[in-house]
Amino acid sequence: MPKDQKQWDWQQDTHPAVLYSSRPDGTVQCHLSPRNCVIRPGSVGFCRVRANRGGELVTLNYGKSVAMTEETIETEACYHYAPGARILSMGNIGCMMNCDYCHNWQTSQARYVEDRSVHYYTPEQVVESALERGIQVISWTYNDPVVWHEFVLDTARLARQHGLVNLFKSAFYISLEGAKELCDVIDIFSISLKSMDPTFYKRVTKGQLQPVLDATKYVFDRGKHVEVSSLLVTDANDSEADARKLSRWVLDELSPDVPVHFVRFHPDYKYTQVDRTPVERLERAREVALAEGIRYCYLGNVYDNEATNSFCPYCGTVVVERYGLIARPVGLTEESNCRTCDRPLAFQLLPKPQTAGLNIVEVPDSDLSGTDHEWRGDVKAVHIEVSSEAPATHEVIVRVLGGASNGREIKRVPVMPGAQYRFIACKSATDDRGVTIQTPPGVHVSMYEVYDRAHFPTDTVLQIKHSSDAVPEAALRLRGAGRA
Ligand code: SF4
Repeated sequence: MPKDQKQWDWQQDTHPAVLYSSRPDGTVQCHLSPRNCVIRPGSVGFCRVRANRGGELVTLNYGKSVAMTEETIETEACYHYAPGARILSMGNIGCMMNCDYCHNWQTSQARYVEDRSVHYYTPEQVVESALERGIQVISWTYNDPVVWHEFVLDTARLARQHGLVNLFKSAFYISLEGAKELCDVIDIFSISLKSMDPTFYKRVTKGQLQPVLDATKYVFDRGKHVEVSSLLVTDANDSEADARKLSRWVLDELSPDVPVHFVRFHPDYKYTQVDRTPVERLERAREVALAEGIRYCYLGNVYDNEATNSFCPYCGTVVVERYGLIARPVGLTEESNCRTCDRPLAFQLLPKPQTAGLNIVEVPDSDLSGTDHEWRGDVKAVHIEVSSEAPATHEVIVRVLGGASNGREIKRVPVMPGAQYRFIACKSATDDRGVTIQTPPGVHVSMYEVYDRAHFPTDTVLQIKHSSDAVPEAALRLRGAGRA
Protein backbone atom coordinates (compact mmCIF):
# COMPACT_ATOMS: atom_id res chain seq x y z
CA MET A 1 0.00 0.00 0.00
CA PRO A 2 1.47 3.44 -0.84
CA LYS A 3 2.52 5.29 2.31
CA ASP A 4 0.01 8.06 1.62
CA GLN A 5 -2.87 5.63 1.99
CA LYS A 6 -1.57 3.78 5.03
CA GLN A 7 -3.70 4.01 8.17
CA TRP A 8 -1.38 4.79 11.05
CA ASP A 9 -2.26 3.79 14.59
CA TRP A 10 -2.52 7.42 15.67
CA GLN A 11 -5.44 7.90 13.27
CA GLN A 12 -7.58 5.18 14.78
CA ASP A 13 -9.45 6.87 17.60
CA THR A 14 -11.48 10.02 17.06
CA HIS A 15 -13.02 12.89 18.99
CA PRO A 16 -16.05 15.02 18.05
CA ALA A 17 -15.12 18.18 16.17
CA VAL A 18 -16.73 21.62 16.35
CA LEU A 19 -17.33 24.24 13.64
CA TYR A 20 -18.88 22.26 10.81
CA SER A 21 -22.16 21.75 9.05
CA SER A 22 -23.72 18.49 7.84
CA ARG A 23 -25.20 18.35 4.37
CA PRO A 24 -28.09 16.25 3.07
CA ASP A 25 -25.82 14.22 0.77
CA GLY A 26 -23.82 12.87 3.77
CA THR A 27 -20.87 15.20 3.27
CA VAL A 28 -19.77 17.63 5.98
CA GLN A 29 -18.25 21.07 5.58
CA CYS A 30 -15.56 22.11 8.03
CA HIS A 31 -15.54 25.78 9.00
CA LEU A 32 -12.37 25.82 11.08
CA SER A 33 -10.05 27.18 8.42
CA PRO A 34 -10.97 29.32 5.40
CA ARG A 35 -10.35 26.28 3.26
CA ASN A 36 -13.91 25.17 4.17
CA CYS A 37 -13.30 21.60 3.06
CA VAL A 38 -16.32 19.59 1.98
CA ILE A 39 -15.54 16.05 3.15
CA ARG A 40 -17.14 12.88 1.85
CA PRO A 41 -18.01 10.02 4.26
CA GLY A 42 -14.84 8.12 5.16
CA SER A 43 -12.54 10.87 3.85
CA VAL A 44 -10.35 13.52 5.45
CA GLY A 45 -9.94 17.23 4.82
CA PHE A 46 -6.86 18.94 3.37
CA CYS A 47 -5.17 18.85 6.79
CA ARG A 48 -5.74 15.05 7.03
CA VAL A 49 -6.63 15.31 10.71
CA ARG A 50 -10.37 16.09 10.40
CA ALA A 51 -12.56 13.38 8.95
CA ASN A 52 -16.15 12.60 8.05
CA ARG A 53 -17.27 9.56 10.02
CA GLY A 54 -20.92 8.69 9.43
CA GLY A 55 -21.91 12.23 8.49
CA GLU A 56 -20.21 13.83 11.48
CA LEU A 57 -16.94 15.73 11.59
CA VAL A 58 -14.37 14.23 13.95
CA THR A 59 -10.76 15.09 14.75
CA LEU A 60 -8.06 12.45 14.47
CA ASN A 61 -5.47 14.31 16.53
CA TYR A 62 -7.24 15.12 19.82
CA GLY A 63 -4.65 14.69 22.59
CA LYS A 64 -2.03 13.47 20.11
CA SER A 65 1.11 15.47 20.32
CA VAL A 66 4.81 15.51 19.70
CA ALA A 67 6.80 15.32 22.93
CA MET A 68 5.98 18.25 25.21
CA THR A 69 9.08 20.42 25.36
CA GLU A 70 10.28 23.07 27.79
CA GLU A 71 11.64 26.09 25.93
CA THR A 72 11.73 29.85 26.48
CA ILE A 73 9.13 32.30 25.23
CA GLU A 74 11.66 33.79 22.78
CA THR A 75 11.45 30.50 20.83
CA GLU A 76 8.01 31.62 19.70
CA ALA A 77 8.94 35.04 18.29
CA CYS A 78 7.39 36.53 21.41
CA TYR A 79 9.71 39.17 22.89
CA HIS A 80 7.31 41.52 24.65
CA TYR A 81 5.45 39.21 27.01
CA ALA A 82 7.35 37.94 30.06
CA PRO A 83 10.86 38.06 28.49
CA GLY A 84 12.86 34.97 29.39
CA ALA A 85 9.81 33.03 30.68
CA ARG A 86 9.93 29.27 30.48
CA ILE A 87 7.16 27.79 28.32
CA LEU A 88 5.76 24.31 27.79
CA SER A 89 5.58 23.84 24.02
CA MET A 90 2.91 21.59 22.63
CA GLY A 91 2.82 20.61 18.96
CA ASN A 92 0.55 18.19 17.18
CA ILE A 93 -0.08 16.70 13.75
CA GLY A 94 -1.39 18.23 10.52
CA CYS A 95 -1.75 21.69 9.04
CA MET A 96 -4.31 23.64 7.04
CA MET A 97 -1.45 24.85 4.78
CA ASN A 98 1.46 23.15 3.04
CA CYS A 99 4.32 25.66 2.72
CA ASP A 100 7.01 24.45 0.34
CA TYR A 101 9.72 25.52 2.81
CA CYS A 102 8.06 24.28 6.03
CA HIS A 103 10.52 23.80 8.90
CA ASN A 104 8.20 21.32 10.64
CA TRP A 105 6.93 19.30 7.67
CA GLN A 106 7.55 15.98 9.43
CA THR A 107 4.66 16.75 11.76
CA SER A 108 2.68 19.38 9.86
CA GLN A 109 2.21 17.12 6.85
CA ALA A 110 0.32 14.20 8.36
CA ARG A 111 1.43 11.72 5.73
CA TYR A 112 5.00 11.92 7.04
CA VAL A 113 4.12 11.44 10.72
CA GLU A 114 5.44 8.23 12.22
CA ASP A 115 3.75 6.55 15.16
CA ARG A 116 6.99 6.74 17.18
CA SER A 117 6.73 10.56 17.18
CA VAL A 118 3.20 10.63 18.60
CA HIS A 119 2.60 11.03 22.33
CA TYR A 120 -0.80 10.93 24.00
CA TYR A 121 -1.75 13.54 26.60
CA THR A 122 -4.94 14.58 28.36
CA PRO A 123 -5.66 18.26 29.13
CA GLU A 124 -5.09 17.45 32.80
CA GLN A 125 -1.64 15.95 32.14
CA VAL A 126 -0.52 19.01 30.17
CA VAL A 127 -1.67 21.46 32.84
CA GLU A 128 -0.25 19.33 35.64
CA SER A 129 3.14 19.14 33.92
CA ALA A 130 3.31 22.93 33.64
CA LEU A 131 2.22 23.47 37.23
CA GLU A 132 4.54 20.91 38.80
CA ARG A 133 7.50 22.50 36.99
CA GLY A 134 6.56 26.09 37.81
CA ILE A 135 6.03 26.94 34.11
CA GLN A 136 3.61 29.83 33.60
CA VAL A 137 3.00 29.72 29.85
CA ILE A 138 1.68 26.92 27.64
CA SER A 139 2.62 27.43 24.00
CA TRP A 140 0.51 25.93 21.22
CA THR A 141 3.06 25.73 18.45
CA TYR A 142 5.21 23.89 15.84
CA ASN A 143 3.14 22.31 13.00
CA ASP A 144 0.16 24.59 13.55
CA PRO A 145 -2.26 24.66 16.46
CA VAL A 146 -5.25 25.72 14.32
CA VAL A 147 -5.91 22.08 13.42
CA TRP A 148 -5.80 21.07 17.11
CA HIS A 149 -8.72 23.34 17.91
CA GLU A 150 -10.75 21.14 20.25
CA PHE A 151 -7.76 19.98 22.32
CA VAL A 152 -6.38 23.52 22.51
CA LEU A 153 -9.72 24.88 23.72
CA ASP A 154 -10.17 22.19 26.38
CA THR A 155 -6.61 22.39 27.68
CA ALA A 156 -6.20 26.16 27.48
CA ARG A 157 -9.46 26.63 29.39
CA LEU A 158 -8.24 24.33 32.15
CA ALA A 159 -4.83 26.03 32.13
CA ARG A 160 -6.48 29.42 32.63
CA GLN A 161 -8.45 28.11 35.58
CA HIS A 162 -5.08 27.34 37.17
CA GLY A 163 -3.67 30.80 36.45
CA LEU A 164 -1.57 29.82 33.42
CA VAL A 165 -1.12 31.90 30.27
CA ASN A 166 -1.72 30.49 26.76
CA LEU A 167 0.37 31.44 23.74
CA PHE A 168 -0.80 30.58 20.20
CA LYS A 169 2.03 30.49 17.63
CA SER A 170 0.45 30.07 14.25
CA ALA A 171 0.24 30.88 10.57
CA PHE A 172 -3.32 31.79 11.58
CA TYR A 173 -5.11 30.67 8.45
CA ILE A 174 -8.29 30.32 10.47
CA SER A 175 -11.94 31.32 10.10
CA LEU A 176 -13.23 34.20 12.19
CA GLU A 177 -15.48 31.70 13.99
CA GLY A 178 -12.38 29.77 15.02
CA ALA A 179 -10.51 32.93 16.04
CA LYS A 180 -13.50 34.02 18.12
CA GLU A 181 -13.47 30.77 20.10
CA LEU A 182 -9.74 31.09 20.70
CA CYS A 183 -10.17 34.60 22.12
CA ASP A 184 -11.95 33.04 25.12
CA VAL A 185 -8.82 31.17 26.19
CA ILE A 186 -5.69 32.51 24.45
CA ASP A 187 -3.70 35.47 25.81
CA ILE A 188 -0.88 35.83 23.27
CA PHE A 189 -0.94 35.41 19.50
CA SER A 190 2.41 35.14 17.71
CA ILE A 191 1.41 35.23 14.07
CA SER A 192 3.63 34.02 11.27
CA LEU A 193 2.78 36.15 8.24
CA LYS A 194 4.26 34.46 5.19
CA SER A 195 4.17 37.41 2.81
CA MET A 196 1.99 40.36 1.84
CA ASP A 197 1.59 38.97 -1.66
CA PRO A 198 -1.64 36.97 -2.27
CA THR A 199 0.00 35.13 -5.17
CA PHE A 200 2.89 34.02 -2.95
CA TYR A 201 0.40 32.67 -0.42
CA LYS A 202 -1.48 30.70 -3.04
CA ARG A 203 1.59 29.34 -4.81
CA VAL A 204 3.98 28.62 -1.94
CA THR A 205 1.78 28.08 1.14
CA LYS A 206 -1.45 26.79 -0.50
CA GLY A 207 -3.33 29.26 1.70
CA GLN A 208 -4.71 32.77 1.22
CA LEU A 209 -3.42 36.07 2.58
CA GLN A 210 -6.61 37.99 3.34
CA PRO A 211 -8.13 35.59 5.92
CA VAL A 212 -4.79 35.64 7.82
CA LEU A 213 -4.84 39.44 7.92
CA ASP A 214 -8.51 39.48 8.95
CA ALA A 215 -8.02 36.99 11.78
CA THR A 216 -4.90 38.80 13.05
CA LYS A 217 -6.74 42.10 13.16
CA TYR A 218 -9.70 40.40 14.81
CA VAL A 219 -7.68 39.12 17.79
CA PHE A 220 -5.70 42.37 18.06
CA ASP A 221 -8.93 44.39 18.19
CA ARG A 222 -10.07 42.17 21.04
CA GLY A 223 -7.13 43.30 23.14
CA LYS A 224 -4.90 40.28 22.73
CA HIS A 225 -1.12 40.56 22.87
CA VAL A 226 0.00 40.19 19.22
CA GLU A 227 3.47 39.87 17.70
CA VAL A 228 4.04 39.40 13.97
CA SER A 229 6.88 37.43 12.44
CA SER A 230 7.84 36.77 8.86
CA LEU A 231 10.24 34.06 7.72
CA LEU A 232 12.28 35.73 4.99
CA VAL A 233 13.04 33.08 2.40
CA THR A 234 15.99 33.84 0.15
CA ASP A 235 14.93 35.54 -3.10
CA ALA A 236 11.29 34.64 -2.43
CA ASN A 237 9.92 37.22 0.04
CA ASP A 238 13.01 39.00 1.37
CA SER A 239 12.98 42.25 -0.62
CA GLU A 240 12.79 45.76 0.83
CA ALA A 241 9.37 46.14 -0.82
CA ASP A 242 8.13 43.05 1.08
CA ALA A 243 9.35 44.50 4.40
CA ARG A 244 7.77 47.88 3.64
CA LYS A 245 4.40 46.39 2.76
CA LEU A 246 4.30 44.27 5.89
CA SER A 247 5.33 47.20 8.09
CA ARG A 248 2.69 49.47 6.60
CA TRP A 249 -0.02 46.91 7.19
CA VAL A 250 1.03 46.54 10.86
CA LEU A 251 1.06 50.34 11.24
CA ASP A 252 -2.29 50.87 9.50
CA GLU A 253 -4.25 47.95 10.96
CA LEU A 254 -2.55 47.12 14.28
CA SER A 255 -0.15 49.48 16.04
CA PRO A 256 3.44 50.74 15.87
CA ASP A 257 3.90 49.00 19.25
CA VAL A 258 3.27 45.53 17.78
CA PRO A 259 6.69 43.86 17.62
CA VAL A 260 7.77 42.70 14.16
CA HIS A 261 10.26 39.85 13.73
CA PHE A 262 12.15 39.09 10.54
CA VAL A 263 13.28 35.50 10.79
CA ARG A 264 16.08 33.72 8.98
CA PHE A 265 15.16 30.72 6.86
CA HIS A 266 17.08 27.43 6.73
CA PRO A 267 16.68 25.13 3.70
CA ASP A 268 14.09 22.44 4.39
CA TYR A 269 11.29 20.28 2.94
CA LYS A 270 10.94 21.17 -0.79
CA TYR A 271 13.33 24.14 -0.51
CA THR A 272 16.54 22.27 0.19
CA GLN A 273 18.31 23.87 -2.78
CA VAL A 274 17.68 27.40 -1.53
CA ASP A 275 20.41 29.06 0.55
CA ARG A 276 19.93 30.40 4.08
CA THR A 277 18.75 33.99 4.06
CA PRO A 278 21.74 36.38 3.97
CA VAL A 279 21.84 38.26 7.29
CA GLU A 280 22.30 41.58 5.42
CA ARG A 281 18.84 41.16 3.88
CA LEU A 282 17.29 40.65 7.30
CA GLU A 283 19.12 43.71 8.57
CA ARG A 284 17.90 45.76 5.61
CA ALA A 285 14.31 44.61 6.23
CA ARG A 286 14.63 45.78 9.84
CA GLU A 287 15.98 49.17 8.76
CA VAL A 288 13.00 49.56 6.43
CA ALA A 289 10.51 48.62 9.18
CA LEU A 290 12.04 51.05 11.69
CA ALA A 291 12.11 53.84 9.09
CA GLU A 292 8.42 53.22 8.39
CA GLY A 293 7.62 53.73 12.09
CA ILE A 294 7.59 50.23 13.64
CA ARG A 295 8.90 50.78 17.19
CA TYR A 296 10.21 47.29 17.95
CA CYS A 297 11.75 45.19 15.21
CA TYR A 298 13.87 42.07 15.69
CA LEU A 299 15.86 39.53 13.75
CA GLY A 300 15.25 35.86 14.48
CA ASN A 301 17.55 32.86 14.07
CA VAL A 302 20.63 35.08 14.14
CA TYR A 303 23.31 35.21 16.82
CA ASP A 304 25.77 37.92 17.80
CA ASN A 305 23.57 40.66 16.36
CA GLU A 306 22.29 43.61 18.34
CA ALA A 307 18.96 43.44 16.51
CA THR A 308 17.94 40.70 18.93
CA ASN A 309 17.96 43.20 21.84
CA SER A 310 15.04 45.44 22.79
CA PHE A 311 15.75 49.16 22.76
CA CYS A 312 13.63 51.91 24.27
CA PRO A 313 12.22 53.62 21.16
CA TYR A 314 12.38 56.99 22.96
CA CYS A 315 15.86 57.16 24.51
CA GLY A 316 17.63 54.24 22.82
CA THR A 317 18.58 52.38 26.04
CA VAL A 318 18.78 48.58 25.85
CA VAL A 319 15.87 47.36 27.96
CA VAL A 320 16.10 43.62 27.25
CA GLU A 321 19.39 41.95 26.34
CA ARG A 322 19.16 38.72 24.39
CA TYR A 323 21.55 36.08 23.22
CA GLY A 324 20.03 33.18 21.30
CA LEU A 325 17.00 32.20 23.34
CA ILE A 326 18.22 33.77 26.57
CA ALA A 327 16.69 37.10 27.62
CA ARG A 328 17.66 39.46 30.44
CA PRO A 329 15.27 42.36 31.11
CA VAL A 330 17.95 44.81 32.25
CA GLY A 331 16.24 48.15 31.70
CA LEU A 332 12.55 47.69 32.53
CA THR A 333 10.74 48.72 35.70
CA GLU A 334 8.09 46.44 37.23
CA GLU A 335 5.49 48.60 35.47
CA SER A 336 7.21 48.02 32.08
CA ASN A 337 8.61 51.54 31.93
CA CYS A 338 12.06 52.33 30.59
CA ARG A 339 14.41 52.58 33.60
CA THR A 340 16.29 55.44 31.93
CA CYS A 341 13.60 57.78 30.58
CA ASP A 342 10.59 56.33 32.48
CA ARG A 343 8.39 56.24 29.38
CA PRO A 344 5.86 53.34 29.33
CA LEU A 345 6.94 50.60 26.93
CA ALA A 346 4.88 47.91 25.21
CA PHE A 347 5.90 44.99 27.42
CA GLN A 348 3.78 42.73 29.60
CA LEU A 349 5.55 41.17 32.55
CA LEU A 350 4.49 38.24 34.70
CA PRO A 351 5.04 37.93 38.45
CA LYS A 352 7.89 35.60 39.42
CA PRO A 353 6.78 31.94 39.15
CA GLN A 354 5.99 29.94 42.26
CA THR A 355 8.66 27.38 43.06
CA ALA A 356 7.51 23.98 41.95
CA GLY A 357 7.76 22.34 45.40
CA LEU A 358 9.04 19.03 44.05
CA ASN A 359 10.73 16.60 46.37
CA ILE A 360 14.10 16.54 44.63
CA VAL A 361 16.69 14.05 45.84
CA GLU A 362 20.23 15.45 45.42
CA VAL A 363 22.88 13.24 43.87
CA PRO A 364 26.57 13.86 44.71
CA ASP A 365 28.61 15.33 41.84
CA SER A 366 30.80 12.24 41.82
CA ASP A 367 27.78 10.08 40.82
CA LEU A 368 26.77 12.27 37.85
CA SER A 369 27.69 11.24 34.29
CA GLY A 370 28.52 13.95 31.76
CA THR A 371 27.53 14.01 28.08
CA ASP A 372 28.97 16.75 25.89
CA HIS A 373 27.23 18.27 22.92
CA GLU A 374 29.10 20.74 20.70
CA TRP A 375 27.54 23.40 18.50
CA ARG A 376 28.47 23.11 14.84
CA GLY A 377 28.15 25.86 12.25
CA ASP A 378 24.65 27.30 12.30
CA VAL A 379 23.25 24.66 14.67
CA LYS A 380 23.36 26.34 18.06
CA ALA A 381 20.54 24.76 20.02
CA VAL A 382 19.62 21.25 21.08
CA HIS A 383 16.56 19.48 22.44
CA ILE A 384 17.63 17.25 25.31
CA GLU A 385 15.26 14.38 26.03
CA VAL A 386 15.69 12.64 29.34
CA SER A 387 13.95 9.52 30.60
CA SER A 388 14.25 8.17 34.09
CA GLU A 389 14.35 4.71 35.58
CA ALA A 390 15.52 6.16 38.89
CA PRO A 391 13.29 5.58 41.94
CA ALA A 392 13.22 9.27 42.96
CA THR A 393 13.02 12.73 41.40
CA HIS A 394 16.49 13.94 40.47
CA GLU A 395 17.80 16.92 38.56
CA VAL A 396 19.64 17.02 35.25
CA ILE A 397 22.18 19.86 35.16
CA VAL A 398 23.29 21.66 32.00
CA ARG A 399 26.59 23.55 31.99
CA VAL A 400 28.42 25.65 29.43
CA LEU A 401 31.16 23.79 27.57
CA GLY A 402 34.21 25.84 26.57
CA GLY A 403 34.87 29.58 26.44
CA ALA A 404 35.21 31.99 29.34
CA SER A 405 32.11 30.53 31.07
CA ASN A 406 33.22 26.91 30.87
CA GLY A 407 31.43 24.91 33.57
CA ARG A 408 28.87 27.61 34.39
CA GLU A 409 25.47 26.10 35.21
CA ILE A 410 22.73 27.30 32.84
CA LYS A 411 19.84 25.00 33.64
CA ARG A 412 18.52 22.50 36.18
CA VAL A 413 15.62 20.31 35.11
CA PRO A 414 13.84 17.89 37.47
CA VAL A 415 13.08 14.40 36.12
CA MET A 416 10.43 12.38 37.91
CA PRO A 417 10.58 8.56 38.20
CA GLY A 418 9.34 6.92 34.97
CA ALA A 419 9.04 10.27 33.21
CA GLN A 420 10.26 11.31 29.77
CA TYR A 421 10.84 15.02 29.27
CA ARG A 422 12.31 17.25 26.57
CA PHE A 423 13.86 20.67 27.02
CA ILE A 424 15.95 23.07 24.99
CA ALA A 425 19.48 24.35 25.62
CA CYS A 426 21.19 26.81 23.34
CA LYS A 427 24.38 28.73 22.83
CA SER A 428 24.60 31.33 25.57
CA ALA A 429 27.68 33.41 24.67
CA THR A 430 29.86 34.15 21.65
CA ASP A 431 32.71 31.92 22.77
CA ASP A 432 30.95 28.88 24.23
CA ARG A 433 31.46 25.62 22.36
CA GLY A 434 28.50 23.59 23.51
CA VAL A 435 26.90 22.15 26.63
CA THR A 436 27.66 19.39 29.11
CA ILE A 437 24.63 17.51 30.39
CA GLN A 438 25.12 15.95 33.82
CA THR A 439 22.74 13.12 34.63
CA PRO A 440 22.21 11.02 37.77
CA PRO A 441 22.27 7.19 37.62
CA GLY A 442 19.17 5.76 35.90
CA VAL A 443 18.54 8.85 33.76
CA HIS A 444 19.10 8.44 30.02
CA VAL A 445 19.70 11.23 27.50
CA SER A 446 18.90 11.62 23.80
CA MET A 447 19.75 14.74 21.85
CA TYR A 448 18.13 16.37 18.83
CA GLU A 449 19.77 19.26 17.02
CA VAL A 450 17.46 22.24 16.62
CA TYR A 451 18.14 24.05 13.36
CA ASP A 452 16.14 27.16 14.18
CA ARG A 453 13.67 28.30 16.77
CA ALA A 454 10.23 26.65 16.80
CA HIS A 455 11.77 23.75 14.87
CA PHE A 456 10.78 20.37 16.31
CA PRO A 457 13.48 17.85 15.33
CA THR A 458 12.61 14.16 15.15
CA ASP A 459 16.07 12.67 14.43
CA THR A 460 18.46 12.13 17.32
CA VAL A 461 22.08 13.18 16.81
CA LEU A 462 22.96 9.48 16.62
CA GLN A 463 20.70 9.05 13.58
CA ILE A 464 22.39 11.85 11.68
CA LYS A 465 24.67 10.58 8.91
CA HIS A 466 25.18 13.72 6.88
CA SER A 467 26.92 16.70 8.35
CA SER A 468 25.02 19.67 6.95
CA ASP A 469 24.55 22.48 9.44
CA ALA A 470 22.04 24.14 7.08
CA VAL A 471 19.71 21.36 5.92
CA PRO A 472 18.23 18.93 8.48
CA GLU A 473 18.85 15.24 7.90
CA ALA A 474 15.18 14.41 7.31
CA ALA A 475 14.94 16.91 4.44
CA LEU A 476 18.07 15.43 2.84
CA ARG A 477 16.48 11.97 3.11
CA LEU A 478 13.29 13.25 1.52
CA ARG A 479 15.26 14.81 -1.30
CA GLY A 480 17.27 11.59 -1.72
CA ALA A 481 14.02 9.64 -1.99
CA GLY A 482 12.86 12.02 -4.74
CA ARG A 483 9.75 13.01 -2.76
CA ALA A 484 10.51 16.67 -2.22
S1 SF4 B 1 -9.24 22.59 9.30
FE1 SF4 B 1 -9.16 23.53 7.25
S2 SF4 B 1 -7.97 22.05 6.06
FE2 SF4 B 1 -8.71 20.94 7.89
S3 SF4 B 1 -10.64 20.01 7.29
FE3 SF4 B 1 -11.11 21.99 8.23
S4 SF4 B 1 -11.26 23.40 6.51
FE4 SF4 B 1 -10.17 21.59 5.77
